[in-house]
Amino acid sequence: MIWLGIESSCDETACAILRDDPLEILSNPLYSQIQEHALYGGVVPEVAARAHLEKITTICQEAISEAKISLSDIDAIAFTRGPGLMGPLLVGASFARGLARDLGIPAYGINHLEGHLSAAWLTEPDLEPPYLTLTVSGGHTELVLEEPGFRYTLLGRTRDDAAGEAFDKSGILIGLKYPAGAAIGKLAAGKNRKFHHFPRALQSEDNGEFSFSGLKTAVRRYVESNTPEFIQENLGDIAASLEDAIVDSLVAKTIWALKKTGMKTLIVGGGVSANHLLRERLGKYCESHGIRLAFPTLYNSTDNGAMIAAAAIRRARVGMLPETSTEVKPWLPLAL
Ligand code: ATP
Ligand code: MG
Ligand code: FE
Repeated sequence: MIWLGIESSCDETACAILRDDPLEILSNPLYSQIQEHALYGGVVPEVAARAHLEKITTICQEAISEAKISLSDIDAIAFTRGPGLMGPLLVGASFARGLARDLGIPAYGINHLEGHLSAAWLTEPDLEPPYLTLTVSGGHTELVLEEPGFRYTLLGRTRDDAAGEAFDKSGILIGLKYPAGAAIGKLAAGKNRKFHHFPRALQSEDNGEFSFSGLKTAVRRYVESNTPEFIQENLGDIAASLEDAIVDSLVAKTIWALKKTGMKTLIVGGGVSANHLLRERLGKYCESHGIRLAFPTLYNSTDNGAMIAAAAIRRARVGMLPETSTEVKPWLPLAL
């Protein structure tokens, strides 16, 4: 069976061709709109919707030719129905539905977060729930228990900013461009993580909740109380201290949730799961506690089409595909 996965919830226009049985990613190209939004320091919904509209056909054609298949080989389409930006979601959904109608095949609306959590499964397809999941992306930071049958129980989420937002907003304050997550990771490599102590919120609280808005304020104060030259000269050490604070918060609450649930498998997904320090710190803890830890490939950590098709394939295998008539939904939590 050949699947076309389409992702358009935010600022990546992504299409992928996957084969199931045996599972294989045949292609997974994307167009990132980063340049278009960097000017504004964040994603502008209208600009994003227009860029999706301009690129989606090209990226889809690229996915098909790279996979060395033809359009008529596609058996089913999976697209992101939410959460995300309304305009961008509608572009992907309309394209998916139109193409599905033309080809006489079904188009299934998939939850973007379920997609992020299915990305690790592409590398380790023997993963089976129950397991603990950590979603760390541009818009979400949450710990969710996943049980067989796509049953999700929320253990805790952020009260304000997401981890990716914390990276991006702090990065802009220290003079980096949006999105700053990957840049902070690069600048921080081999630098002094103890250079400045940035706050870690809610650490003493017995829950799985996160908060990053205080960190943002602390970074702003820090930047204001130092000269631009000082910030520039010590950028690596500041980035390392920042990364240390964010990763520390994520790891502490993940350990809390592992203890709380007694789960022996942890799956991480979302853009921030590309972060090397997070991989290293969670890796150390899980290794010493006999916990299986699964991350997506670096490419599949951020938004891509393969993760959307992956979620659909996981569902198809247990007969739990959604109705083809589902509407797009900007707000679509995995668990309340
Ligand atoms: P959501 O999935 O919540 O709807 P999104 O789709 O916009 O949000 P993703 O594409 O999953 O988010 O992730 C983008 C985020 O990941 C950005 O905030 C970016 O800074 C961050 N990010 C990407 N690479 C890294 C990295 N190496 N280290 C830290 N953060 C990173
Ligand atoms: Mg993005
Ligand atoms: Fe995402």
